[in-house]
Amino acid sequence: MEKTKYIFVTGGVTSSLGKGIISASLARLLQGRGYSVTIQKLDPYINVDPGTMNPYEHGECYVTDDGAETDLDLGHYERFLNVHTSQANNVTTGRIYQYVIDQERQGAFLGKTVQVIPHITDEIKRRIKLLGETGEFQIIITEIGGTVGDIESLPYIEAMRQLRWELGADETLVIHLTLVPYLAAAGELKTKPTQHSVKLLLESGVQPDILVARTEHTLGDDVRRKIALFCNVNLNAVVESIDVETIYDVPLKMLREKLDRLCLAKLHLPLKNEPDMESWKDFLFRLKNPKHEINIALVGKYVELPDAYKSIIESFIHAGAERETKVQLHNISSETITPENVASKLGNIDGMLVAPGFGDRGIEGKIDAIKFVRENNIPFFGICLGMQCAVIEYARNVLGWKDAHSTEMNSKTKHPVIDFMESQKKVTRKGGTMRLGAYACDLTKGSKANLAYGKQHISERHRHRFEFNNKFTDDFKNAGMSFSGTNPETGLVEIIEIEKHPYFVGVQFHPELKSTVANPHPLFVKFVKAALERKLVK
Ligand code: GLN
Repeated sequence: MEKTKYIFVTGGVTSSLGKGIISASLARLLQGRGYSVTIQKLDPYINVDPGTMNPYEHGECYVTDDGAETDLDLGHYERFLNVHTSQANNVTTGRIYQYVIDQERQGAFLGKTVQVIPHITDEIKRRIKLLGETGEFQIIITEIGGTVGDIESLPYIEAMRQLRWELGADETLVIHLTLVPYLAAAGELKTKPTQHSVKLLLESGVQPDILVARTEHTLGDDVRRKIALFCNVNLNAVVESIDVETIYDVPLKMLREKLDRLCLAKLHLPLKNEPDMESWKDFLFRLKNPKHEINIALVGKYVELPDAYKSIIESFIHAGAERETKVQLHNISSETITPENVASKLGNIDGMLVAPGFGDRGIEGKIDAIKFVRENNIPFFGICLGMQCAVIEYARNVLGWKDAHSTEMNSKTKHPVIDFMESQKKVTRKGGTMRLGAYACDLTKGSKANLAYGKQHISERHRHRFEFNNKFTDDFKNAGMSFSGTNPETGLVEIIEIEKHPYFVGVQFHPELKSTVANPHPLFVKFVKAALERKLVK
């Protein structure tokens, strides 16, 4: 295979400009032209991975098949590209330092002073090139987290500069994403922040090739020319990224701005065919022209922060488009739910999803909410902690074990229906020690899960410590709960259902991590269908 080419994406002026979406959109276009592409995110924080961070700090923690706990941008990459990412696709400063310090302790640098340059930058370069060396990809898009000018980003910018020097300008490309703010009082778009941010990059020895300007208003020719002239790029290399209705519009917007053509020309790669975006356009059409609308309650404890449940929200977008249904999500903080107000909060919904989570806060509200939808035949979908709460609710209110609980919340309960896995009992370290990544699951023939997937053997991603306690299996079965998905090696329960209920499914894994534009997740599609059916008969 020919040499792998590298595209770097940096950001300037402010954070949250959407580097991840631009990277994923570009990757999708290049993929549509027949290139094998992957994306890598370099995160400048010192945590080894985001697994130990509160979702309020960092949004959702995304998990890959190989069990890496990663930045949520990897979710965008998978959703846009429909390919799996891995540990190699997300690297943090913590991981880089951990590796280098480990090497130092082993004597790898005996006699030498270990320094940011060259040791840290060398390790960054090695991580960037690792994906290229697999031989699987023609193009690697490496997104550098943070904002140019941050102290913690400097080693990454320096590593990028060195790689450009080593590999040559034809093999690498730098896209710099900036903000072009609109000053209402002056009635003008302002280019100065962009000029400054490019200057900052130049101070580190990097001249960007392409500027993607985030803006709320169309960039006129004069603004484009000004940016090109003062930032030293070609006029056609100033790309407008205007606010759009949905992130899924961005690839088509970038196609119109010719971002993919520009990159291929600079990398001396052939354009091949025009990107095949037919299925993408079809998805967008269904997304924007729904025939139905349903109201779904999203019950969790991080509901104020949309990024905390990013993959769940996106999965509903995919499944809704698939069923031509607008899914109106109503975020309900589980802490606010009580037995007294549950009917008024949930009375008008068509379905309820109880979200994943950790710890005691808001648990009783989730259990009250589940009791309500179970008794009122409202479609229910529980994910991870959401499934565990459904088990606890059933134990308390159907089996009559009032003290039933998960040992995560109550280690003394006589009915530990959710308990530590044996293998977790000795674990004391928190980072990377949960049941993580892809595990196989066998489905019971004829179950709702089996009908949804249309097959009997599946694989789904996990991120949890606690499990259904198989000691109680028979009690639950006799009381009408079925276990329609189990792990073939360990017998651990992966899916619960209540057969008599129109739609009551809880999963121990995280289906939301595998929903993509090309492949909406079957359990989300089925849940949307169940909610729609309920609405239509209401
Ligand atoms: N806290 C639960 C556990 O560790 C559920 C985790 C989750 O919802 N991801 O098992």
